[in-house]
Amino acid sequence: MTAAARPTDPAGPVGPTPADRADRSSAELIRAEEPVLAHNYHPLPVVVARAEGVWVEDVEGRRYLDMLAGYSALNFGHRHPALVEAAHRQLDRLTLTSRAFHNDRLAAFAEGLAGLTGLDMVLPMNTGAEAVESAIKVARKWAYEVKGVPDGQATIVVAGGNFHGRTTTIVSFSDDPVARDGFGPFTPGFRSVPYNDLAALEAALDETTAAVLIEPIQGEAGVLIPDDGYLAGVRELTRRAGCLFVADEIQSGLGRTGRTLAVEHESVLPDLVLLGKALGGGIVPVSAVVGRRDVLGVLRPGEHGSTFGGNPLAAAVGSAVVALLETGEYQRRAAELGAVLESGLAALAGKGVTAHRVRGLWAGVDVDPAIGTGRAVSERLLREGVLVKDTHGSTIRLAPPLTITRDELEWALAALEKVLTGTEG
Ligand SMILES: *Cc1c(COP(=O)(O)O)cnc(C)c1O
Repeated sequence: MTAAARPTDPAGPVGPTPADRADRSSAELIRAEEPVLAHNYHPLPVVVARAEGVWVEDVEGRRYLDMLAGYSALNFGHRHPALVEAAHRQLDRLTLTSRAFHNDRLAAFAEGLAGLTGLDMVLPMNTGAEAVESAIKVARKWAYEVKGVPDGQATIVVAGGNFHGRTTTIVSFSDDPVARDGFGPFTPGFRSVPYNDLAALEAALDETTAAVLIEPIQGEAGVLIPDDGYLAGVRELTRRAGCLFVADEIQSGLGRTGRTLAVEHESVLPDLVLLGKALGGGIVPVSAVVGRRDVLGVLRPGEHGSTFGGNPLAAAVGSAVVALLETGEYQRRAAELGAVLESGLAALAGKGVTAHRVRGLWAGVDVDPAIGTGRAVSERLLREGVLVKDTHGSTIRLAPPLTITRDELEWALAALEKVLTGTEG
């Protein structure tokens, strides 16, 4: 794999013309951020100025293969032509109405998304965290109105190691001290059980349980894939307990794992599915709760809303995303290239990789701590022209756009091998 040549970059200039370039160098721009930008991120030292497909270019014109894809918000690559065209067309016509009025894009978006997921109804929101918050509200309301839980008593069962977003309610049930400490008081009503443990889940369910909320694969935790049978088990336990199964597919959904939804690997249909990230095509924030009519139907006018949720620009881009996924091409690519990713990482076992987990074009790679932290490995990969992001400790996550070619993927794996074996050029 060491011999892989750097794949050909897209021909010609892409994106902004040189006249649009920042008038400061990467180093100057990084320094300029420090006093004026809140320090809630610690980005790798690269300043991206334009991008196309799987390639991004920095201020100085250096090119990098994007193996993070905006945490799966860029499943179709940067500026996919069909998505950019849909956005342009909509920008020229209508961008925002608020839900005080109907808009002529929303029906098609909701029909498309319901059809794609096999569910009935759509609640459009903007960010992933809003979809999670919305699902929590819907589940609680459903528990009181349909299940008959006494008012104020509903519980939602979540899994240890979860990541569902950053709001005060969501960090209330996180067990990551960095995400949580200093932000209390927290929202009550959540119970946490170990992930991938059906017995613990079963023991946590009772007559107060409104829902079980889990990620079908835990992304931020390091792409943790549960044992076969876990998702089907969650479906069966929630059915028996008379509570909802809410699957957070914000990162795992929309083609990433080789299926439209990760729950399809176990032929499971949750009551509510949360989508975000790739739903906005890497152009606008678009999220949604998609669910059964008897569940989402508990919401009545005025009980929940969003100024931007379901706006016509979001709906136009979201519909174009649905159309791409309806072809099945992206799911197929993720499955086929996922096998290449899997065998490439397997070949690095003992060469610096201590464990790896792959589902579709999504991998968590545990690096021998003796080689360096995930951050250090990410910085060395950056110098090799590959963008990745560490999660915890010595784990890096790979999630390239689903449009990546086999050559490009093999080139990235070769770069990883060089970094792990200390043979960088
Ligand atoms: C990213 C993510 C969220 C939060 O999405 P935001 O758009 O950042 O609010 C929620 N759940 C999962 C699984 C995610 O990966």
